[in-house]
Amino acid sequence: MPLDLNVPSYVQHTGLIAWVADMAALCEPKYIHWCDGSQEEYDALCQQLVDAGTFTRLNPLKRPDSYLARTDPSDVARVEDRTFICSERQEDAGPTNNWMAPDAMRSTLQPLFAGCMRGRTLYVIPFSMGPLGSPIAQIGVELSDSAYVAVNMRLMTRMGRKVWDVLGADGAFVPCMHTVGAPLAQGATDATVWPCNPTTKYIVHFPETREIWSYGSGYGGNALLGKKCLALRIASKMGQDQGWLAEHMLILGVTSPEGVKHHIAAAFPSACGKTNFSMLVPPAGFAGWSVTTVGDDIAWIQPQADGSLRAINPEAGYFGVAPGTNLQTNPNCMASLHRDVIFTNVALTDDGDVWWEGLEADHGGQLPAHLIDWQGRHWTPAIAKETGAKAAHPNARFTVAATNNPVLDPAWDDPQGVKIDAFIFGGRRSSTVPLVTEARNWVEGVYMAATMGSETTAAAFGQQGVVRRDPFAMLPFCGYHMGDYFRHWLELGEKLQAQGATLPRIYCVNWFRKGADGQFVWPGYGENMRVLHWLLQRLQGQAEGEETAFGIAPRYGDLHWQSLPFSQAQFASVTTLDRAMWAQELQSHAEHFAQLGPRLPVALEQVRQALAQRLAG
Ligand code: GDP
Ligand code: PGA
Ligand code: MN
Repeated sequence: MPLDLNVPSYVQHTGLIAWVADMAALCEPKYIHWCDGSQEEYDALCQQLVDAGTFTRLNPLKRPDSYLARTDPSDVARVEDRTFICSERQEDAGPTNNWMAPDAMRSTLQPLFAGCMRGRTLYVIPFSMGPLGSPIAQIGVELSDSAYVAVNMRLMTRMGRKVWDVLGADGAFVPCMHTVGAPLAQGATDATVWPCNPTTKYIVHFPETREIWSYGSGYGGNALLGKKCLALRIASKMGQDQGWLAEHMLILGVTSPEGVKHHIAAAFPSACGKTNFSMLVPPAGFAGWSVTTVGDDIAWIQPQADGSLRAINPEAGYFGVAPGTNLQTNPNCMASLHRDVIFTNVALTDDGDVWWEGLEADHGGQLPAHLIDWQGRHWTPAIAKETGAKAAHPNARFTVAATNNPVLDPAWDDPQGVKIDAFIFGGRRSSTVPLVTEARNWVEGVYMAATMGSETTAAAFGQQGVVRRDPFAMLPFCGYHMGDYFRHWLELGEKLQAQGATLPRIYCVNWFRKGADGQFVWPGYGENMRVLHWLLQRLQGQAEGEETAFGIAPRYGDLHWQSLPFSQAQFASVTTLDRAMWAQELQSHAEHFAQLGPRLPVALEQVRQALAQRLAG
């Protein structure tokens, strides 16, 4: 019997209906559910996940309407080595992306997707990245056999019925195919609470035809296809074609006691502090200052007729790192997590609440006597001491709507976006890179971003703590050749300058220098306000700095130290440029550039040579 497509009467888009019919014929789900995005639907799907054992409902007195999901231990992070950019020509994907020819990839995916949803429901998930109907927004439709994906997409995007009104009968959308890759035999039920394919995973992008195909994983950036896949990999290619930028950046507003407001966009690699910085609470000594969140992960930035750059946050929620989050490091985040949260791979307390490493700071250093860890095993401080077992996975996450954030910027949903006054780029570097420097001009700033290095984190599968070049924090997210991407940034700067615009200044930061004892020297988190404050004063011509080989940097006396005991010696240990280390660093910049070949803009190699001369001098 042919499957009933169940198309709701309000869906009028014949092209889309034909696509869903084709995909259903390919994937052979047992049922099709068109998501309307309502609260009732969300509650029902969450209940279904509870019944299936995928979700544990948290204690409603502690954490109302919140859930804990435990994934398969093999499915806990993005899989960069299984992520592909399938442009027609390999050189357009560039050396930093995995590539396969589109035809070859389609032939590979075809047999994997054939019958992949047997025994499961296919969810049709319509979503808007960006405010509904905004000229900057993009519509996507994800077909997924995961209810976990459907409920997460409702928190992370503008999802549901309203999207059909925008799409109408023939609107453009990005088709996003997703399956956990675990078809069920006739009459069989899942043997595990987290179906996925433990051996075969493909996260595939066709940037030229704007399509996404994801197979085998149910987790985060592998499965919530609006986020890294659409809003970065596909959108970066749209931006290249159309003259705008899709960036791995938080956007914050910062208002002075006098009421002067600036907007800053900052790119840090995954698990390097974007969410925290976007919710920063200014420390004592900064009375009257406030920071508000426009976005915590992704920015779409468009040049305007007046030469300014305006940015929107295409998302509507946060998929943030739980470990390390507590009332001291990020009180606004903690306040966002009081209710209506989906936690993934955190630990469960005996009274039905959540726990992760770092929360002990809110309990006088006290660890709970007993937990169920992220893999469903008993956990005690003694077991942890003996085996090193973490209660929460280091990449454990929370999913929460932006509207839960007490410091959400009033303009977060504005279709016009906010005007960007400065860009910040920062990696996780235990040595070498100083606390903060200001680029002398746009090209030097692009160089700093293009050569940024960072130690790998638990956000991606693979070895951790290894320094790799992560240009613009976009290494895993750029949908085309990295050399062309650098050129796109340089050309944008030239174009705006030709319009007579004052370009946003560009800064490079590093919160993560370590001392001889292996501890972070810079206190970070709210104290990053001191760096932000210096930068804002610089924009207004009110702060000094000194020329260093690597841009303009504050001297000890240029930062405000009220209420923070931080000695000149400590300051030196987070700012000193070590000549030997920098010689190595430049060598690594050179190797990185050489890898990009002739598509590397000459201007960047010229900056490198000037930097080499200054360091030698
Ligand atoms: P994102 O993935 O870029 O959004 O990074 P998050 O803001 O979620 O932070 C990732 C991890 O880095 C968390 O464990 C944070 O507690 C930690 N972190 C964030 N900001 C800082 C900082 O300024 N200093 C230090 N030492 N750690 C930080
Ligand atoms: P993030 O990405 O660490 O940059 O937030 C997470 C993911 O997409 O899985
Ligand atoms: Mn984040």
